Amino acid sequence: MKILVIASGSTGNCTYIETPQTRILLDAGISSRRIQAALHAHGASLESLDAILISHAHHDHVSALPQICAKYRIPLWASRGTLGAIAGLVSPGYPVNVIKGEELALNDIGIHALPVPHDCVEPLAFVFEQRQKFYGHFTDLGYVPDMLTPYFERLDALTLESNYDPWMLRHGPYPRYLQTRIEGKTGHLSNPAALETVKLHTRLKLKYLVLGHLSQKNNTPAKVLDTFLPLKSARAQMKMAIARPDKPLPIMDL
Ligand SMILES: [Zn+2]
Ligand SMILES: [Zn+2]
Repeated sequence: MKILVIASGSTGNCTYIETPQTRILLDAGISSRRIQAALHAHGASLESLDAILISHAHHDHVSALPQICAKYRIPLWASRGTLGAIAGLVSPGYPVNVIKGEELALNDIGIHALPVPHDCVEPLAFVFEQRQKFYGHFTDLGYVPDMLTPYFERLDALTLESNYDPWMLRHGPYPRYLQTRIEGKTGHLSNPAALETVKLHTRLKLKYLVLGHLSQKNNTPAKVLDTFLPLKSARAQMKMAIARPDKPLPIMDL
């Protein structure tokens, strides 16, 4: 399984997952032109996708849908709540599929669709499984619910949100109500909360850790790095990267 984080951050999110038989786009929150360019660089294309999975209806995860729906017929998969919330972005008659249960199989890839506590309608996080390799994509969390924790220990690769630095959020430009929303149980994970989550719940088999969905206003890559450096030295075998909103990361190969 190959994973390409094309963009991640409060301004736009998009990840590509590829197995020998399956090509999936997870979220489409940057322009379709940028998505296509990143896919082309890896020998894929929007035309070759089997599915687009949408985690939730926030703008930074769905902004390219009108462009994509106008030009392509790639089946869209999301929770019923998300599909309802994005109905205005999807052209009539476009192929959509409701993710009903927790387990889903697309060709050779197993997908665990996990409900998460984020302030949107029926948001989902995903674990992708192929040949006993597991990739977890956990952003827009608020907090880590108990039902998610058993999944962490299986992961070979993880993208986890490390959204804000608590001091920067409290002293930044956001109004107090927005600060409270972000810190709350349906907001985002802070850098220290992300670190605790990785320390507590992941195992040494974790080969790749991507810290993502950084706030543009309330965080910096340097702050994330500062927070995670002690963990990086304790886990020499683990590759760590900080995702960017404007540039894809190197591919993760499991
Ligand atoms: Zn988001
Ligand atoms: Zn969100």
